[in-house]
Amino acid sequence: EAKRAGGNVCTMFEPAMRERAARRADIESDLRQALVEDQLFVVYQPVVGLREDGGTDLSAGVEALVRWQHPVRGVVPPFEFIQVAEESGLIGALGDFVLRRACRDFMAWQRELGDQAPRLMAVNLSRAQLGQPDWPATVRAILAAEGMRPSQLQLEVTESLAAQDQQVQDRLHELKAIGITLALDDFGTGYSSLSSLHQLPVDTVKIDRSFVCQADTSQHHRVLIEATVKVAQSLGMNTVAEGIETEAQAAAVREQQCAKGQGYLFSRPLTSPALLDWLRTSMQIAA
Ligand code: C2E
Ligand code: MG
Ligand code: MG
Ligand code: MG
Repeated sequence: EAKRAGGNVCTMFEPAMRERAARRADIESDLRQALVEDQLFVVYQPVVGLREDGGTDLSAGVEALVRWQHPVRGVVPPFEFIQVAEESGLIGALGDFVLRRACRDFMAWQRELGDQAPRLMAVNLSRAQLGQPDWPATVRAILAAEGMRPSQLQLEVTESLAAQDQQVQDRLHELKAIGITLALDDFGTGYSSLSSLHQLPVDTVKIDRSFVCQADTSQHHRVLIEATVKVAQSLGMNTVAEGIETEAQAAAVREQQCAKGQGYLFSRPLTSPALLDWLRTSMQIAA
C-alpha cells in the first residue's frame, strides 16, 4: 500500500490526499453497508435499433446501470463507487447483485409485454469479476434460476479488459461458449484500435459518446465512426452508438449504418416500472 502512495511517505500527509483517502474509506464502509441494507438498485437505458427505413426499434434492448440510494448523500452515480468496489473486493457481490436483479426484471418485462419486451439485456463487467475462476458457472446459475436464455444476455467489457492476459481471454471464451454475447464498451477511448478488433472475442462494438457527440459537427469524428462501423461489419460485429443526445447526431450515425443507438435523445436510464411505462407509451404513439 505504501508503494501505491508513490513511495514518498510525506505525500500521504498532504491535506488533499488525506481527504481523498478518508473519503475513499467512507465510501468503502458505506458501500459494505449498502450491499447488506439493499441500498443499491438498477436502472435501465433503452438501446434502440436504428432501422434502415428510418424507423426506430424500441425493443432492441436495454443496458443495466447500477445506482446507490445513499441514506445521507442521495443517489450516488457509479463513477463515485465502482472503482472503490473494484479495489476493495466488493465488486463481486455488487456485480452478482446487478446481474441477478437485471435478469429478474428482464423476465418480468417478458411476462408484462410479451413480444414488445426488450430482447437483450446488457450488463457491465469488471476485471475483478473475471478473476474468479467460477464466475462463468455463477452466471450460468443465475440465468438458470431466473429462467433467462444465455443469448438474451450481453456482457459489456472495456478494451483494456478484453485485451488482457490469457486467463481473462479464456474466461471470455467460456462465457461465449455458454451462448452469452460480449460487447466492447467505450470504443475509441483508451488504446482502442481498429486493427486489433479482430483479436477480441466480441460480438458488438459500442462507439464511445466522445465520438458520437461530434458525429454531426466534425468531419474527423464522422470518418472515425464510419471506419469503425465498416471494420465491425466486415468482422460480423454489431455496432451501437453511445450517448446520442440530438436528432442530428442520430441522423449522422444512421447515415454511417450504425445498427443501434443509445442516449438521452431516446431515453435516460429508467427504473423498471418507468421503463415499462416508457415502452407502453412510446409504442402507443408509434402505432
Ligand atoms: P457505460 O457502461 O459506458 O454506460 C453509459 C453511461 O453513459 C451511463 O452513465 C449513462 O447514464 C450515460 N449516458 C447514456 N446516454 C447518455 C447521453 O446521451 N449523454 C450523456 N452525457 N451520458 C449518457 P452511468 O450510469 O453514470 O455509468 C457510468 C459508468 O459506470 C458506465 O459507463 C460503466 O462503465 C460503469 N457502470 C455502471 N453500472 C455498472 C455496473 O453495474 N457494473 C460495473 N462494473 N460498472 C458499471
Ligand atoms: Mg456499458
Ligand atoms: Mg464503461
Ligand atoms: Mg460506454
